[in-house]
Amino acid sequence: MKVSTARVITYGVVAILAALAIRATPPLAQPPAAAVLSDSGPTPSWKLQFDSLARGESLVGLLERGGLSDTAARHAVAAATSLDPRRIPTGLPVAVLNAAPTDSEPTEIVVQLAVDHFLHLVRGDSGWTEHDERLPWTTDTVALQGTIRSNLYQAVYDAAGSTLSRDAATALVVRLADNVYQYRVDMTRDLQAGDTFRVLAQRSTLSNGLVRVGEIVAAQLDLSGTEIDAIHYTSDALAGDYFDQTGRSLKAAFLRVPLQFKYISSGFGERFHPILKLWRDHKGIDYAANAGTPVRAIGNGVVVRAGWASGYGNLIEIRHPNGFSSRYGHLRAFAKGIHAGARVDIGQTIGYVGMTGLATGPHLHFEFLVHGVQRNPRVALRNVGGEPIPRSLMASFDSVRDRVMGQLLASTGGKGVTTVAQR
Ligand SMILES: [Zn+2]
Repeated sequence: MKVSTARVITYGVVAILAALAIRATPPLAQPPAAAVLSDSGPTPSWKLQFDSLARGESLVGLLERGGLSDTAARHAVAAATSLDPRRIPTGLPVAVLNAAPTDSEPTEIVVQLAVDHFLHLVRGDSGWTEHDERLPWTTDTVALQGTIRSNLYQAVYDAAGSTLSRDAATALVVRLADNVYQYRVDMTRDLQAGDTFRVLAQRSTLSNGLVRVGEIVAAQLDLSGTEIDAIHYTSDALAGDYFDQTGRSLKAAFLRVPLQFKYISSGFGERFHPILKLWRDHKGIDYAANAGTPVRAIGNGVVVRAGWASGYGNLIEIRHPNGFSSRYGHLRAFAKGIHAGARVDIGQTIGYVGMTGLATGPHLHFEFLVHGVQRNPRVALRNVGGEPIPRSLMASFDSVRDRVMGQLLASTGGKGVTTVAQR
């Protein structure tokens, strides 16, 4: 077999494996029926077989299942010195290549250890050898801007076009909602049609085309004329965090929403719901989510009750400092260690969405109270500014802000997507 042919085949194996890995989301309980692909090209006659490790199965077992003799399988796997046989995860993709189908033994076995990491076991004249391959990533910065029409996901998908894959765009949305703006904006309730966003984010592209979103460098939301900027800033003296344009941290004492945005997908339909009506109805906000979705404490505090409360079903009430408290109703279950008297931290999982009490479907009923009186969380949890950046870092922050916001605004002036920088 010519070297050039081998290279082409290897590359093809890697590309197909990577494509499979992108699509395969949860670990497979049962291996898929091995797909046997034959080369359709005229010259090389080779056979390629894909598989993935079943639960508790060894690599030798998988190869035997694919038709190799026990001896041949053991010889091949013995070459894989960098692979700890006890630590191979279920579902690990494996490709077996036979460049000379008249031969019973394969010529190459490719184990995909990560999206960008492959272990090749190659059979040569002197037996099996291994070589490790890491695909290179390239990183650049992309700027996106768009207008909310139905929801944030759709707006970002529309803005991203072909710049980000659907998965990467989804990751960007989740990062914006659950990371950058989690203390400031309830992306399920606060966005209105016509609101706009701009984002500057790092993008990593693997040599096979897989795209990942890295850090969000800067963002700007315009919610009915209220602009909320987010600038990522980090220094030796300060862990990375998001700050507004005046240098105040976007962090606050309370999260805006007791569920992560990534779990509230079913809430889209309600995003333009008349909040006031919902509010008058029962002094709380309902978030539709699948039963079992983790519910998090919106702030530090002490659990004052965790038990049954008639219409609320299973209810948790947390007392926070300064006269604030929060309630979480209809829970299916409480998280471990949650009982009256327990201390909880902001973001800690306290229970799971359910439909206990007076509920027609699984949802979280959330209340925010000020001195014992329910207040609309949309108003009561509105934050205007967290801790300011230390004075000694202000000049450094200012220069970062000027650079990234300049980049963001310059690159989103009228166009949907622009690649603004290559690193
Ligand atoms: Zn409710």
